[in-house]
Amino acid sequence: MSYAAPETTEVDLETPAPLGALDLCDSCGAQAYVRVTLATGELLFCGHHATKHRESLADKVVAWHDETDRLRDDRAS
Ligand SMILES: [Zn+2]
Repeated sequence: MSYAAPETTEVDLETPAPLGALDLCDSCGAQAYVRVTLATGELLFCGHHATKHRESLADKVVAWHDETDRLRDDRAS
């Protein structure tokens, strides 16, 4: 079995880049695990602030990219 890796240079909104250590929460500066795409731009949130702001942003969100599952994975090792 082999996988042909498609070489795409365009930004694909359907497959957003994973969040890394350089991505920080816009509210508190902790490492971000959620990227919120709005019509006007992007916001990054830690797990705590993603939950806190989710309701107030609900009607503006274009895409909600949630990697908070990694918080549990990291702790398992
Ligand atoms: Zn935060």
